[in-house]
Amino acid sequence: MSKTSESVWMECLSFIKDNIKPQAYKTWFEPIKPVKLSGEALTVQVPSKFFYEWLEEHYIKLLRVALVRELGDQAKLIYDVRMENTYSSNNAQTVKIPSANRNPLKSQKVSIPLESKRELKNPFVIPGLQKVKIESQLNPNYNFDNFVEGDSNRLARSASMAVANKPGGTSFNPLLIYGGVGLGKTHLAHAIGVEIKDKYADKTVLYISSEKFTQQFIDSVKSNTRNDFIHFYQMIDVLIIDDVQFLSGKAGTQDVFFHIFNHLHQNGKQVILTSDKAPVDMQDIEQRLLSRFKWGLSAELQSPDYETRVSILHNKLFRDGVDMPEEIVDYIAKNIKSNVRELEGVVISMIAQASFNRKEFTLELAREIVDKFVKNTKKEVSIDYIQKVVSKYFDMDVATLQSKTRKRHVVQARQLAMYFAKRMTKSSLANIGNQIGQRDHATVLHACKTVDNLTETDKQFKKYVEDLTKKLTF
Ligand code: ADP
Ligand code: MG
Repeated sequence: MSKTSESVWMECLSFIKDNIKPQAYKTWFEPIKPVKLSGEALTVQVPSKFFYEWLEEHYIKLLRVALVRELGDQAKLIYDVRMENTYSSNNAQTVKIPSANRNPLKSQKVSIPLESKRELKNPFVIPGLQKVKIESQLNPNYNFDNFVEGDSNRLARSASMAVANKPGGTSFNPLLIYGGVGLGKTHLAHAIGVEIKDKYADKTVLYISSEKFTQQFIDSVKSNTRNDFIHFYQMIDVLIIDDVQFLSGKAGTQDVFFHIFNHLHQNGKQVILTSDKAPVDMQDIEQRLLSRFKWGLSAELQSPDYETRVSILHNKLFRDGVDMPEEIVDYIAKNIKSNVRELEGVVISMIAQASFNRKEFTLELAREIVDKFVKNTKKEVSIDYIQKVVSKYFDMDVATLQSKTRKRHVVQARQLAMYFAKRMTKSSLANIGNQIGQRDHATVLHACKTVDNLTETDKQFKKYVEDLTKKLTF
């Protein structure tokens, strides 16, 4: 029977079990999982970096004997350090890495002095053969192949590719990718990592969000393992930190990052950062750190122009295997302008709606969906918009709503418009009155009170308020 990683590991375990105390066996060997056997190299997964170091320090001789018995004296042992749960790769948009309780920095109860670690000798090491593998936390769905090029992203994209081809070997170090929400910063950052893993399998790449980095740092301080935290990050060849604007105001984390950054940079390791702002506009980030950010290249991702939006839509539709009439694609591209995530969101909603309700892709459906997206992203509704929605709801035009007429249903509509303007905008009473048919502030105040009263006493009126609230907020 040919050997598998399981069979080899089973044999090793039975040997090990006979040679150490049961409690030690349980603690240090049961959690180990064999994952791969290739030639004389056995890869095992260990729950944390600490775990691996402990094994190396205390059980390496035993491991060696066991392995050599099974695989001969060329035996190699490769550790796969599970930092955290890995990305599930098929659902890029909703995936969040669960906050780690298998985080090595958290689970370390014993702290290992750095010195002894350096002296630690692994008898397997014929240099360069024994490796620690760290899960990269990369999402393979974010790659260069599906990152559509356009004027808005050309510089950032080509700088990213240059870095991916020669990590640490270009003047783009650090590479800082910045730009607004949903423009592809995270996508590009992953793409660099994915490409490097592909080209340079032996490089240790790590993607981490600034928030998580901060949390790990705080935890390491609490558990007195700050040095291990730093040391861990200093082992990385390609460090990708997403959304560094979240480091703002966090002096301790900035300080530790500064040291890690310097170490990596001095050793020719690549650092990739993303941020929602250019370095000059970053607030509450220490000057010395900002100046480091500027050492390399800051490349901006801008809002995609019309052509790029159309390409991105085509690309997405193609990948989803969906045919959509060109006039609809055009309609979406013309109306969703600022953000690629929304562009994709519209396509996803279209596909969902069409398949749930067995609807065709029609321009009307596109309008409905685009409308929702556009409204949802409005931070503040305008008084104009409120007047339009209220008039439409009561089947009158805006001019009627604003007119001097005393007809009851028009007065009510006008009062409702004023009420919502007060509730949903930051405008003053005077300004609201001015815009809704040139009334004074007292009239607006009176309208608000009337609506409040009627809502409590009149069921029909209450329904108006509810309906309109929905219409205005969705
Ligand atoms: P950010 O991190 O800047 O907020 P993301 O990287 O999360 O933005 O991008 C939002 C979504 O838009 C992702 O699904 C991403 O794949 C997609 N996206 C952004 N830019 C492009 C592009 N140029 N080509 C294809 N997809 C893109
Ligand atoms: Mg992002």
